[in-house]
Amino acid sequence: MSESQQSRVYDVIIVGCGPAGVSAAIYTKRKMLDVLVISKDIGGQVLLTGFIENYPGFEGVRGEALVEIFERQLKGLGVDVKIGEVERVERDGEIFKVISSEGNFSGKAVIVTGGSTYKRLNVPGEERLIGRGVSFCATCDAPFARNREVAVVGGGNAALQSAELLSRYAKMVYIIHRRDKFRADEVLVERVKRHQNVQFIMNSVVTEIKGDKRVEGITVKDKEGNIAEMKLDMVFIEVGREVKADYIKHLVRTNEWGQIVVDRRQRTSCEGVFAAGDITDRPYQQAIIAAGDGAVAALSAYDFLTEKGY
Ligand SMILES: Cc1cc2nc3c(=O)[nH]c(=O)nc-3n(C[C@H](O)[C@H](O)[C@H](O)COP(=O)(O)OP(=O)(O)OC[C@H]3O[C@@H](n4cnc5c(N)ncnc54)[C@H](O)[C@@H]3O)c2cc1C
Repeated sequence: MSESQQSRVYDVIIVGCGPAGVSAAIYTKRKMLDVLVISKDIGGQVLLTGFIENYPGFEGVRGEALVEIFERQLKGLGVDVKIGEVERVERDGEIFKVISSEGNFSGKAVIVTGGSTYKRLNVPGEERLIGRGVSFCATCDAPFARNREVAVVGGGNAALQSAELLSRYAKMVYIIHRRDKFRADEVLVERVKRHQNVQFIMNSVVTEIKGDKRVEGITVKDKEGNIAEMKLDMVFIEVGREVKADYIKHLVRTNEWGQIVVDRRQRTSCEGVFAAGDITDRPYQQAIIAAGDGAVAALSAYDFLTEKGY
């Protein structure tokens, strides 16, 4: 990194380049701010998405195609994107130092959009068939389950809510849970039990997801060690989400799940640090919501800098 780059102070540094980061970059750049994006990739979770049908302006778009448009849009605006990992953000008076695999950068404001990852079952077939019948999001993919046989894996509220939604579309929904009791609220469990097309498979784990081009079935093992094969079209994995905000959590307030707490303007507890998208404590993890948050974070950062007379 050159000396001039090292002494340069950006107006805003954006961590992450999923829908929240892309949107924050578009909005900050169009406010004529000097902006740098540092991200491990361009696209975030959208890169893993097979087909998106709930992003306005697109009746249906492959995740990769949407990411290509993100890239074109960033390039067209002349946004400086560095591909690398942010390791730590430090505050030095009114300036933030962003320490990354690509070098250290300084900014007057930081927008954190590091996203989240869905926890995996870590069984054969799972990773390969993401977007091909393996889903982590019923809100995103339930319409693809119309008249199909599907499984939901998990035992918390998210799993039961997914099963409830899926029962509206699917021919049959199997809920597979490794224990004999659910962590989900009793009232929700009772409601799901009333659906005729939902069946509970307790004390059992999925050991493999099978299929060549798409999910064709799963292997399930019960606690006695008995193994059964089930023919299925889709598997919804609902075993939790993980937020990795270690590089910033010493500066901002986080909740019990490690999500960054933000207000309606996407401000964190640290003045000058904003957060947007799945890394925050806002409910619902969707691309359009992350993009909306990113826009709000950018406008808030602009107001913050303007008030400071940047
Ligand atoms: C398989 C799948 C299907 C989905 N389908 C849909 C759908 O149909 N419709 C829908 O609306 N939503 C869908 N979602 C959810 C949607 O993709 C997410 O809600 C959305 O991408 C969140 O955006 P984000 O920008 O907050 O985070 P992410 O998309 O997670 O992006 C985070 C970014 O931060 C970067 N990053 C993380 N840590 C660091 C670091 N330390 N240093 C540098 N960069 C870092 C990552 O590389 C990434 O670029 C789906 C998700 C998955 C996984």
